[in-house]
Amino acid sequence: MGASNCIFCKIAAGDIPSMRIWETPKLLAFLDVGPLAHGHTLLIPKQHFESILDVQEDVLSSMARQLPTLAGAIIRATGATGLNVLQNTGKSSGQEVFHLHVHLIPRREGDALGYRWNAGAYAEGQGEAMQSRIIGEIPS
Ligand code: 5GP
Ligand code: ZN
Repeated sequence: MGASNCIFCKIAAGDIPSMRIWETPKLLAFLDVGPLAHGHTLLIPKQHFESILDVQEDVLSSMARQLPTLAGAIIRATGATGLNVLQNTGKSSGQEVFHLHVHLIPRREGDALGYRWNAGAYAEGQGEAMQSRIIGEIPS
């Protein structure tokens, strides 16, 4: 059973159509309806989780195990020379559908996709302070 009004739950259930490319009883891969490049695919668990913050570990593991096979198929089918695996968590990251999904986006040289990758830097001591803060938040 999915969350009411969740578009990906409805896609998983087959209540609204999608271009399916692979599925098991627990997972589904289908074409993104608004592709950044032709072949742009979404991999979802059929069970509703919002993001990587609430997903069951075994479900995420099963998704990860499928990535090499799907990535290879997408690259061969599209003639791409590379591929981005992208997962948005939270509105500020660009997440618009709050049902966990992983994007597989075929890439080629000069395709003009990409990020604003404005690399910053740490001032003296800032990196170490951040390192400690994050380590302190990892449950033992
Ligand atoms: P997000 O920004 O949440 O990471 O990505 C959501 C993605 O879902 C977008 O790339 C969007 O094009 C795709 N999407 C939204 N609604 C539908 C739909 O009804 N069908 C399909 N196939 N993709 C959808
Ligand atoms: Zn859902």
